[in-house]
Amino acid sequence: AAKTEERNAFRFYSPRMQADARRRIALASELRKALAENEFRLVYQPTIEMRTGRIVAVEALLRWFHPQRGLISPGEFIPMAEKLGLIRRIDQWVLQAACEQMYAWDQAGLPPLRMAVNVSANWFGQANFVDEIRMLLQARRLAPERLMLEITEGAILRLGEEMERTLHALHALGVSVAIDDFGTGYSSMSYLKLRAIDYLKIDQSFVAGLPDDGSDGAIVEAMLTLCRRLDISPIAEGIETEDQHRFLLRAGCVEGQGFLYSRPVEPAVIAQLLNAGRRQGSSHLRLVPPEA
Ligand code: C2E
Ligand code: MG
Ligand code: MG
Ligand code: MG
Repeated sequence: AAKTEERNAFRFYSPRMQADARRRIALASELRKALAENEFRLVYQPTIEMRTGRIVAVEALLRWFHPQRGLISPGEFIPMAEKLGLIRRIDQWVLQAACEQMYAWDQAGLPPLRMAVNVSANWFGQANFVDEIRMLLQARRLAPERLMLEITEGAILRLGEEMERTLHALHALGVSVAIDDFGTGYSSMSYLKLRAIDYLKIDQSFVAGLPDDGSDGAIVEAMLTLCRRLDISPIAEGIETEDQHRFLLRAGCVEGQGFLYSRPVEPAVIAQLLNAGRRQGSSHLRLVPPEA
């Protein structure tokens, strides 16, 4: 009887679902080799000061160039790496590569930027996390103020007491901390009372409906008020239109990121943008033309 049940249950899986499951299993084993095989690259997305359009920061975003399957998005492989226990080593690689890039830009005489790096709870929660960060920065002679770590609300929730110590230690070191995807984490806001959060990144799902969606407008305005009152600097994510930019600027958002200004790009493009901005004295809103 068990056998028939099994066979019946299997009928619910479409060929498409089977192909997806096969891909996941294959990717999981290939992900273990990706670091050693040098298949990861970082791209960088500018963050601009909304009032002036000046680039003030870049966010390092990970890309996996698979030799056979081509480009695989972090949305697919990061959750996988977390489940497989690979995320810590990947995050360490990313932070090191981002610091090396910052050092290279410094050596090339480019204006100093803030570098934003995404870190998962897995590494952030380790006891020696802050020491590792300090050593990485020292090795490249980078001021801690140049680095910003992005963590999600979900990650903060999972860390518990450990988190409080880590946040304070980072704050004391001078590294800034941003809450990524703010408003999507189903978490309490009590961590904001620690006064150890420097930036809130307003999730793109709230920016998408601006300026017409009244709910998104109300939520974003409330988030910006919260930031002002707590002396936290707001960064809006996923800005794609001039209307969204105008709404956010008028509502008091300080920094912005999105395809309107630039997609994530190769390091050489960032260098070009910074050089161009310097020559002209100021930069324009649209830094990189949209992809055709
Ligand atoms: P995130 O940190 O919230 O990054 C923002 C994501 O939104 C990026 O996707 C970016 O390309 C995309 N984006 C930026 N501007 C726009 C826009 O105007 N419109 C739209 N529709 N999207 C925009 P990406 O690069 O695919 O990264 C997805 C997520 O993967 C990131 O979300 C982050 O949570 C995670 N991730 C990426 N790199 C790393 C990493 O090095 N380590 C860890 N732990 N996670 C990473
Ligand atoms: Mg991020
Ligand atoms: Mg985000
Ligand atoms: Mg996100």
